[in-house]
Amino acid sequence: MEISKASKKSFTRQLVAWHSNDNNRDLPWKNERDAYRIWLSEVILQQTRAQQGLPYYINFTTTYPTVADLAIADDNDVFRLWQGLGYYNRCKNLLATARYVARELNGKFPDTYDGLLALKGIGPYTAAAIASFAYGLPQAVVDGNVYRVLSRCFGIETPFDTTAGKKIFAELAQDLLDKKDSGAYNQAIMDLGATVCTPSNPKCEQCPLQKECIAYNNNIINLLPVRSKKMVVRKRFFNYLLLICDNEIWIQKRSSGDIWENLHQPYLIETPAPATIEELKRNEFYTSLTGNIQVTEHQLKTTQRLTHQQIYANFYTVSLQEKPIIKKENGTWVSIDELKRLAFPKTLVSFFKNNLYF
Ligand code: SF4
Repeated sequence: MEISKASKKSFTRQLVAWHSNDNNRDLPWKNERDAYRIWLSEVILQQTRAQQGLPYYINFTTTYPTVADLAIADDNDVFRLWQGLGYYNRCKNLLATARYVARELNGKFPDTYDGLLALKGIGPYTAAAIASFAYGLPQAVVDGNVYRVLSRCFGIETPFDTTAGKKIFAELAQDLLDKKDSGAYNQAIMDLGATVCTPSNPKCEQCPLQKECIAYNNNIINLLPVRSKKMVVRKRFFNYLLLICDNEIWIQKRSSGDIWENLHQPYLIETPAPATIEELKRNEFYTSLTGNIQVTEHQLKTTQRLTHQQIYANFYTVSLQEKPIIKKENGTWVSIDELKRLAFPKTLVSFFKNNLYF
């Protein structure tokens, strides 16, 4: 599909005009020129809405005002600050990159797109955002917001998650970019996608692109953008045993290769389907427990949706007279008061808060 030069020019002009005249989305990272702060905001905002990310951005920039401060932080403090944001790999990469920039690059983020792209956890989108906002480089951002705005406005039906689709959108985005003020243009398209051309119920009556928008004029807004693959969601059933002995609880740090790496959890028995308490009591570990054991099943069940997984969690307090030998790595007994200092996934934070552990 050929898009005329005039259409492209008009798109850019209207978008930029809307940004300077009508876009009043005020967020602390906007107009920021400091690469460290831009990078922080972009990592926090990946897969996260601005309003949800805002307190995290404030906490991070207050606690760690410079990349050098973040580089020397204790891992557990950083994970604790990140708690609730999810996608914990982002936090792991955040630490790795902060340490690399502080130690190997004298605390200065690279000032080229390729240099930024070479850093851990920085993909094309984040590299383009930092390059344009901090250094004014002519690099267009391409993310879900951009796919949506471009596919609707220009009527592009090629799935954005295919090789062909990625190429079409990347080239078009780069073509449309206002090279003289790439930062403002990128901010404009991100804001339009987040506040006006939203996934459902877009506010077309407020949209500067309405007159020329193909999706609007052909009543096909809900059909765009097109995704080729259907997402498969895996169901997982987590049964947490809160092993308690002498006012201490057994806690394990999750290791790599699965979700929630570096976060903590009580003793976990994962089952392929929902399990009853009787089934759990037949588990090899449970049958190895000795002494007087008291088990309480908690009424609260939590569920947590991750991108490709749905977690269902059940909780059982298991009061013990003697501490068992537990053959799981990275586990330790901690006092109940110490739980507050550790980072947990959201599903466990809900449980602990509900049961007054926090
Ligand atoms: S007119 Fe509606 S569908 Fe078209 S770009 Fe604007 S908000 Fe999106």
